[in-house]
Amino acid sequence: RSAPAVVTVTGAAGSIGYASVFRIAAGAMLGHDQPIALRLLELPQSVPAAVGTAMELDDGAFGLLKSVDVFDDPRKAFDGASFALLVGARPRSKGMERADLLAANSDIFALQGAVINEVAADDVRVIVVGNPANTNAAVAAAHAPEVPPQRFTALTRLDHNRAIAQLSHRAGVEVGEISRVTIWGNHSATQYPDIFHARVGGRSGADLAADREWLVDDFIPTVARRGTAIIEARGSSSAASAANATIDHVRDWVLGTPADDWTSTALPSPGVYGVPEGIVCSFPVRSVDGQWEIVEGLEINGFSRARIDASVAELEAERVAALTS
Ligand code: NDP
Repeated sequence: RSAPAVVTVTGAAGSIGYASVFRIAAGAMLGHDQPIALRLLELPQSVPAAVGTAMELDDGAFGLLKSVDVFDDPRKAFDGASFALLVGARPRSKGMERADLLAANSDIFALQGAVINEVAADDVRVIVVGNPANTNAAVAAAHAPEVPPQRFTALTRLDHNRAIAQLSHRAGVEVGEISRVTIWGNHSATQYPDIFHARVGGRSGADLAADREWLVDDFIPTVARRGTAIIEARGSSSAASAANATIDHVRDWVLGTPADDWTSTALPSPGVYGVPEGIVCSFPVRSVDGQWEIVEGLEINGFSRARIDASVAELEAERVAALTS
């Protein structure tokens, strides 16, 4: 593994980008024996800030970091990229309608999908963090016909990690003893954190879920609205935890999920679990030989079915709005 892996991070001067690149350079994402060539893509007005980040990366004297380049041209930034971390997205500005937000991001991600299709490495893996992440990933995938759809993913690992942390507090069990949690659906307030198949220390998640009042009024809304709670507490949105989850996502994708466990990733549905084909939906997944495989055959009870269906309905509406904008 001597050739540097080309890693492109968009929105690199933003909060999540800034919190990601130092850990990537330190080997947390691809392992401590994998050299890295970092490409930072920014909007022209944020290029100076990205140059500052590149200077700080230089000052880290990271042994694995072979180069850092800053671009405002996606064609150059994605050239030969094996990893595309699409963090930059258009935030909602005052007075902006949801449809306008979807349209603005649809333009950005259509272009980035088309450019990735043309110039990225054959093994490119894409993770979309910028919101609305699932739909942005669907748009990018739709513009990259030569890249297998399953290589376009959106981040729900932060929601997954949040669910594990909440379960750990509830059950008084170490996070390392919690497995088989699933986030279904959209990375939005409709997401469904499913613990019915989870293992929580010696207990089954279904056992904890038997306390429906806790499940419905506490656990599910705490996980789904954690981002808002962080904004209220910090005065700005979660950044280090989102960067951490992005790194977890890519690391598991490349190096594999632990035996006997799975994680959550949003990827284009192949038409399983009643999710229409092509909808970028979060599923329980294992990473096997560098590819995501959806864990199939889980029994979905009525409680879970209704919540998955509601989130998928939101995703279908977003996709229609993004594609017809
Ligand atoms: P952040 O780095 O804080 O967030 C980046 C994106 O991640 C946002 O869309 C944000 O969504 C999303 N996100 C997803 N999950 C989470 C989570 N759990 N917590 C917080 N955010 C989450 O944004 P900044 O504004 O600091 O930086 C964005 C950068 O992107 C800017 O520097 C800008 O110049 C750049 N940009 C680059 C583009 C490009 O390269 N073509 C295009 C547009 C912007 P949400 O907004 O919902 O919080």
